[in-house]
Amino acid sequence: MDRLVRVFSHQDELITLEGGYKDEYETFKSLDSLPAEKLLRFQQLSLNLLQDLEQPHDRKKCTERSRSLREEGNIVFRGNGSGSPPDPDRVLNACRLYTGAVFEAEDALDELALAFANRGMALQEYGYYREAYDDCANALEFGYPERLRHKVIMRQAHCAWKLEKTESLEEHLRCLEQLQLNESFKQQLEDLKEKLQLLKNQSNELDSLEESKDRDLEEIHTDPGQRGRYMVAKETIARGKIIFTERASCFVPLEQRLICQQCAATLMSAPIPCSKCHQRVVYCSRKCREAHSAIHRYECAAYQRDLLKLVGVSHLALRLVLTYLPQMLPHLQEGTSAQEIWNAIIDMIKKPEAREITPEYLLSLRMVSHLDKASQAELVYHILCANLLQLYLKEHTVFFDQFHSSSASTKDWQLITSALILRSAGQLLANGHVGDALLPVGLEPNEFALLQPGLWQKPRHLKLGQLHNLAHSELITAINLPYLSLCNHACAPSIRTKFNGCSVFNYAARDISAGEEIFNCYTRDYKNSLKLKRSEPLKEVYKFQCSCAKCTQTNPDRDFLNFHRYRCEKHNCRQEFLPDAELQRNNLSWWLPSNADNLIICTVCKERQYFAWYNDFLDLVESCADSSKRQALFQAFDDLDKWLVDHHILKRNLAEELITACFVEMDEGTSLDKKDFENLARIIRKQLEGTAAQCGDTSMEYIAQMTFLWDLIALRKCQSDKKEILELKGKLEYLAQEQSEVFLNYYNDFIEQQCK
Ligand SMILES: [Zn+2]
Ligand SMILES: [Zn+2]
Ligand SMILES: [Zn+2]
Ligand SMILES: [Zn+2]
Repeated sequence: MDRLVRVFSHQDELITLEGGYKDEYETFKSLDSLPAEKLLRFQQLSLNLLQDLEQPHDRKKCTERSRSLREEGNIVFRGNGSGSPPDPDRVLNACRLYTGAVFEAEDALDELALAFANRGMALQEYGYYREAYDDCANALEFGYPERLRHKVIMRQAHCAWKLEKTESLEEHLRCLEQLQLNESFKQQLEDLKEKLQLLKNQSNELDSLEESKDRDLEEIHTDPGQRGRYMVAKETIARGKIIFTERASCFVPLEQRLICQQCAATLMSAPIPCSKCHQRVVYCSRKCREAHSAIHRYECAAYQRDLLKLVGVSHLALRLVLTYLPQMLPHLQEGTSAQEIWNAIIDMIKKPEAREITPEYLLSLRMVSHLDKASQAELVYHILCANLLQLYLKEHTVFFDQFHSSSASTKDWQLITSALILRSAGQLLANGHVGDALLPVGLEPNEFALLQPGLWQKPRHLKLGQLHNLAHSELITAINLPYLSLCNHACAPSIRTKFNGCSVFNYAARDISAGEEIFNCYTRDYKNSLKLKRSEPLKEVYKFQCSCAKCTQTNPDRDFLNFHRYRCEKHNCRQEFLPDAELQRNNLSWWLPSNADNLIICTVCKERQYFAWYNDFLDLVESCADSSKRQALFQAFDDLDKWLVDHHILKRNLAEELITACFVEMDEGTSLDKKDFENLARIIRKQLEGTAAQCGDTSMEYIAQMTFLWDLIALRKCQSDKKEILELKGKLEYLAQEQSEVFLNYYNDFIEQQCK
C-alpha cells in the first residue's frame, strides 16, 4: 500500500487537471496531452510499480509443502487403526489437509494432480460426489500418472452413478473398457454397467423448471428534476412479497475472502483454486471456473501481483469494464477515433429503449456518479487507479487484442478503457452494493466453512447443537446491481434485500400501496441511527440531504431513542428519561471503550448515572462456568429492567454476551441444568423480541440469534410449540439458498420430530 501511495503522489505532481473536471473521457484526453517527457515519466512510474509487485515463486518449495500436506492427509485418512476410538472428523480433516496440498502445489502440476486425486477419494467417501467428480477431472487435467488413471476414472464413474449423470457414466465406462484392468477393477466395471442400465430405465424427469420471472409489481418512472429515475409500485404489494429479483454479472469478494469468483458461493467443501495466482482465487466447481475464465484471463496476472486489493472500488469497476466492453463492442466497431467511440457510448446512454430489453451494461452506464463533486484528492486517486489498471491490461494481458478488427487504434481503446474504468468507479461509489452471508463464527478469510472440524456429521448436515456456530453475519461481496440502484433512498426502506450468491431478492418490508414510491436505504435506517449520524454518509458519499418522512417528522430521532430509554438510578428520582443526544456528542453507546467520556445525565434530576451494575454483569458473564455464578447472572439480567427500559439496546448487547458465553460453556462440555436452560431460552426469546422491534423479524441479526433457540429446541432443552417452530422455520425464506439448505437439514434432522 505504501508503495502505491508513493507512486500516486509522484504522479499527482506531474499532472494538472486544468479547468476542473469535465468528464471521464476529457480527463484522460488531457492526461494524454501532457508534454511527452512528463507523460513518459508518468507512465513509467506505473509500469515500474507493476514490475515491483511481481512476486517470487519457488516451484520446488511449493512441491515440498504440497507433498508434506498430502502425506499428512494420507495418514489422517487411513486413521490410526490401532484400537483407539475412531475420529468422527477423520475424512473431513483429511479433506482439509488435501485442500491445503492443492493450494500449496500451485503450478507444481505433478503434485497438484496427486493432491486433487487424493482429495477426490476423501470427498467421495464423505459423500460429496459432485465435488469428488470434479476433483477426478482436475487430477486428470493436471497430468495424473498414466498407469494409475483407471483408478481415477473408475472413481469418476462411481460418482457419476451417484449423481445419476447417465451420459457421463456411459462415457467413463466406455473409456474404462479400453484400458487393461485387473480382476477387481473388471468386477467394478461390470457392477457399474449394471447400474447404468438401471439408471437408463428410470424415467427421466425434467430436472430444471424455468423460473418464472415476474417484474410486474414495480415500474420505473422518470422525473426530469432532482428525483431522476425512481421505482413505484404498480399495484398494492403485501408485506413479505417479492417485488423484484436481479442477477448481477459483476461482483468481487470483499476482504480477500475466498468465495467462488463466479457464483459467490460461500459454503465450499472442495474449492478449486487458480493454480497460477497464489491461492487468491477459488471456484466452487469446474463449471464455475470455466464460466469465469473470460474474466480471469485478464485478472490472473493482477492477482499474481496482489494488485487488485490496492485499488479498492476500482477492482469492481475493472470487472464491469471486462464484462461489458465485449458486449458493447459490436455497437462501437465503426468509431475511428477515441472521440467517436466515446460519443457513440454517450449516445447509447441517452437513447431510451423499452425496459425489458435494456442490457445490464446500459443500466450500469446510466448510474449516477458524483465524481464532479468529489474532492481533488479523491478524484486524482480514482484517475490514477484507472490509469494503472489500463496500463496493467496493456502490459500484462491480451485484453486489447479484441479490438484488432475495429477501426480505431489500440491507443484509442486504451483511452476509452481508462475512461470507462473511471466512470464505473465513480458510479460504484454512489451505487455499489454489499452482499452478506452467514458464516461460521471466527472463520478466517482463507478457510472453508464445510471443512471446519467439529461442525458436520455428513454433507451439509450439522451435528446436533452446532447451528449457533454457523451464525456469524458477514459482508462478503461488493456487487453491481444497476436495477436495484434505481430505487431512491429513504431512512425507512420499503424493501428487505436478500443476497443469494450474485442474485438479490427484494421483499416488501411492509405493505406498499399502488403508486407509492419504493425506497431502499443506503445507510443505517431510522431505528438504528440518529438523523445527524446517518446524514453524514448521505452527504459525503451520495451528495444529498435526506428529506424522507422520517427525517422531516417533528421528532426525527424518536424511533431510535426508543431503544435508549433509562430509568434514573438515583433513589429520590427513579424517573424515566431519554439521554440528551447533543450532550452525548451524538453517540449514546457509553459502554464502548471509545465513548468512555460520554457521560449519561438524568434529564429529570440532572444527576450523573454511574451504571455500577454494568461491570458486575460482565464479571458474572466471565465466570458463568460456575453454576451459582450463572444463577446470579440470570438474576442480574432480569435486574437490568430496573435501569434499562423496554428493549434498550444495551440490554440486547448484554443478552448476547450472556447467551454466547453460555453456549461457549456448553460447547466446552459444561453441563447446564434444567433451570439454566429455562432461563437461557427465556432470555433468547426476549432478545429475539427486541431484535425484531429494532431490526425487523426477518433481518440477518434476527436469524443469527434465532440459531441459539433452534439449538436448544433441537437438544430438547426447551419447550416449544408448533406455532413457534413453524414461525422460526419461515425465516429461512430470507437466507441464501446454500445456508437455507443447511438450516433446513438441521430442522429435518433434529426439530421437525418435535413439531407435533
Ligand atoms: Zn461457483
Ligand atoms: Zn489466476
Ligand atoms: Zn431520511
Ligand atoms: Zn434522575
